[in-house]
Amino acid sequence: MSQTTNLDKNYHVPTPDFLNHPLFLNATQGVEEATQLMKIDPNISNRLKLPRKCISVAVPVRMDDHSVKVYMGYRVQYNHTLGPYKGGVRYHQNVDLGEVAGLAALMTFKNSVLGLPYGGAKGGITVDPRKLSRTEKQNLTRRYTSEISSFIGPSKDIPAPDVGTDAQTMAWMMDTYSQEQGGFTQPGVVTGKPVEIGGTLGRVGATGLGVVYIAVRAFETQGKKISGSSIAIQGFGNVGSHAALYAFERGAKVVAVSDVDGGIFNGDGFNVPQLRAHFEAHKSLKGFPGAKDITNKELLELPVDALLPCALEGVIDENNAKNIKAKIIIEGANGPVTVNATKVLHQMGVFLAPDIIANGGGVIVSYFEWVQDIMSFFWEEDDINGKLKSIITKAFDTTYKTAQEKKVDMRSAAMGVAVKRLEKAMLLRGLYPR
Ligand code: NAD
Repeated sequence: MSQTTNLDKNYHVPTPDFLNHPLFLNATQGVEEATQLMKIDPNISNRLKLPRKCISVAVPVRMDDHSVKVYMGYRVQYNHTLGPYKGGVRYHQNVDLGEVAGLAALMTFKNSVLGLPYGGAKGGITVDPRKLSRTEKQNLTRRYTSEISSFIGPSKDIPAPDVGTDAQTMAWMMDTYSQEQGGFTQPGVVTGKPVEIGGTLGRVGATGLGVVYIAVRAFETQGKKISGSSIAIQGFGNVGSHAALYAFERGAKVVAVSDVDGGIFNGDGFNVPQLRAHFEAHKSLKGFPGAKDITNKELLELPVDALLPCALEGVIDENNAKNIKAKIIIEGANGPVTVNATKVLHQMGVFLAPDIIANGGGVIVSYFEWVQDIMSFFWEEDDINGKLKSIITKAFDTTYKTAQEKKVDMRSAAMGVAVKRLEKAMLLRGLYPR
């Protein structure tokens, strides 16, 4: 037992060690700053620095060679003041309870700043999904869903895909949950499903599209345009590859992209549809005509107009922040720039659009999916993208106004707006001890 460093020093409550995970501390450091900025009642902010419920499950899986392996799975339900819990499920070898708790905290603040009727949650399994066959991944997903099934549901907690999971994973989760509810199909229990079984149009590219809507507004606030600008993108998965495509469609020069194996550069900008086809065919960025190989470190430090980190958390910290040359950063990934690095960058005059707004496109369109499932009435893609643009732009503009008024960076302002909305809701609901 220890005391998480971001809890009020007068709040002498021992907390479990997993809450000392850097991602968790980073998320709760933001709550402390928001508390000062927006004059939040410390009774409320201390509550917001701790998860409401942490679920750990052992998940036995029958492997293809008939052996049984037991994996650790988690679901952290962080806060449900604003509505049912909502957040993705991550399959990755580094997943642990502390990381899931940190990501669940970020989901709480993301849903709040975006104005969605959701609380925040996150789930995960400590596994390298690339080492599983399709059958093993299905067995793992079904057993994990069974283990957490009494905690999830369309009006309780609604999982979605994250790193290492996809629409197929959600289809298995929905099917398993539905079987446990007497066999009645419950499409609203997860989002990010295939369209054929209650998924929504526009979900696959939604996060990347949201990143680009935010990039467009970020350029505008700096008196610039995305068209003709140079952009570097770390990560060429769901978020990074879609962000590259939508930026390209708006006339940006995508000069560098990377994945776990390294990056490629072309100062004239890539033809992104051709690059996506190359990646699809070769499962690698390497060998694309006209491209020069670069490292991920070099990509982050390129002299571009905008940098979009769309892969991992913590890639820009206090050590390398001073090497960043981009004037605009849009956080496509969750937590790619630490809170302390954000401050260094702000002093350097870099404009940073924080993750809880910039990568909100996924959860916004997940929200539309959930609404459509409840209504059993499905919308056109243009309608969906229009509504996505309006919600994400409104969150950006409210945050930008707060940042200007309070003279702080955009991350501090976004956390301020998020925590203020949560405080109002908690007061209205009477959810804190007077
Ligand atoms: P993904 O698995 O589809 O892609 C991840 C990409 O990062 C891949 O290209 C991978 O090669 C690359 N990568 C992995 N390790 C790397 C390393 N060490 N260095 C450089 N690149 C590396 O995942 P995704 O869905 O695109 O998610 C990426 C980030 O965005 C995560 O932080 C995720 O939580 C966040 N996010 C995703 C969504 C969504 O809708 N998919 C929504 C919100 C936030």
